[in-house]
Formats: sequence, structure tokens, C-alpha cells
Amino acid sequence: FNRYLQKHEKLEIVSELTASVAHEVRNPLQVTRGFLQLLGKRTDSRERMYVEMALAELDRAAGIVSDFLAFARPELEDWRILKLSDELLRLESMLAPMAQLQGAKLCVDAPPDLYIGGHSAKLKQALINIVKNSIEALKERGEIRIWAYRREGDVYVHIKDNGTGMSPEELARLGEPYFSNKTKGTGLGLMVAFRIVEAMQGHIEYRSEKGVGTEAILRFPAVEAEEDREAEAAG
Ligand code: ADP
Ligand code: MG
Repeated sequence: FNRYLQKHEKLEIVSELTASVAHEVRNPLQVTRGFLQLLGKRTDSRERMYVEMALAELDRAAGIVSDFLAFARPELEDWRILKLSDELLRLESMLAPMAQLQGAKLCVDAPPDLYIGGHSAKLKQALINIVKNSIEALKERGEIRIWAYRREGDVYVHIKDNGTGMSPEELARLGEPYFSNKTKGTGLGLMVAFRIVEAMQGHIEYRSEKGVGTEAILRFPAVEAEEDREAEAAG
């Protein structure tokens, strides 16, 4: 194995495996969850406690898969020029139902002429990890606003919620692996998001105030539309 493969080929195999493991692991986790729930209904209170602990651990495993691996499938696509409004609209259609379940609103506003470079699936993973935190932080009359614009050579994306907000201490620890204030948290979501954005030559800044809300500001180098036309022409 070592002798015959170049380093980048090995990395490619690792990410391919990672993506299929994520995919394959999800189903058995769901099935196990179903059976455990059935068991939990029938057992005495002491056994029910074990079942609940088992369910919580299962959910933690599922959380790791979704924060870390759900869209991390680099083998499926190359680095491309991405039309940001398309990416954000797809994000909206994936997450609006989750927001609605909380009785919250999710509004996306992005002009059609913004382009950045990256992998669509990875960008989606990063944005989902950020927006999911916003949804999880919401109280009553929850609202998440996402908007984008270009300023000089950069494209900015703001994700703003009116959720619980964070203290300066919490804010300082964002992106640290395993930092989580949630009982079912993985503490991996933002670490993954930060790494993806950095790999796109981007940058994330968070602003937050306890009891008021949180705003994530993402910045990416703008890619000219002209390049995009050439890419489209090339197929
Ligand atoms: P997890 O969601 O599994 O806890 P993350 O890395 O996604 O891990 O987030 C880490 C922590 O940062 C969260 O537990 C939460 O305390 C805080 N956080 C992140 N985003 C927000 C937000 N929009 N509003 C309030 N707290 C947030
Ligand atoms: Mg999270």
C-alpha cells in the first residue's frame, strides 16, 4: 500500500472512505434507535434508565456524523466557482423546515451576482453547522436572517439570529474542538465550519451578546463573474 500510492492518492482514499462510512453508519444508528425506543416502553424504571443512556449515546454518534462528515465528500467534486445565491437558496430549503418546527423564521437574501471558489458540499456543511447552532439557540419569535453582498475584493455572508447569545468567555472558545454547552452537543460543528472556511481562503468572525443574539460574518475572496462565464463556456 505504502509503496504503490502517492500521498495525495492515499488522502483521496481516506476521504472516500470517510464519506461512505458516514453514509453507512447513519442507517444502522436509526434502526438501533427504533428498537431501543421500543424496549424503553416495556422495561422497568431501572432498565429504562439504561435504555435512555444508550439512546443519548446513539444520538451523540449521529451528531458527530452530521457535524463532521455529512457533506464532507471531496471525492465527488472538484474545486469550482460557486454562485453564492444558489448555494444559499439550497441551504434555505434544507433548513427552513427545521426552523419552522421551532416556530421560527429563516430569511435568505442574496443577490445573484456573487461568486466564490470552493467545494459546494463542504461549503454546505460549514453553513449548515453555523445555521443549525442559530436554530438551536432560538427562543420565542425566533428569527434568522442570512444576507450577502460584495465589498471590494471580498464577498460577505452574514448569519444573524435573535437567540440566546453568548458571553465573551463562550465567544472566545468558539471553534475549539469539543467545546459545547449542549447536552447533546458534539462541540465539533464550528471547528469543522472554521476549517472549511479557512480552506476556502475565507475568514469567520462572530459577534454575540447574551440574551440578544449572535451574528456570524463570513468573508471569502470574490471570484469575478468573467471567470465564471469562461468556466461555463468550458462546460
Ligand atoms: P455544538 O453545537 O455541538 O454544541 P458547535 O461547535 O456547533 O458545537 O458550537 C459550540 C458552542 O457554541 C455551542 O454549544 C453554543 O454554546 C455556542 N454557539 C454557537 N453558535 C451559537 C449561536 N448562534 N447562538 C448561541 N450560542 C452559539
Ligand atoms: Mg452545533
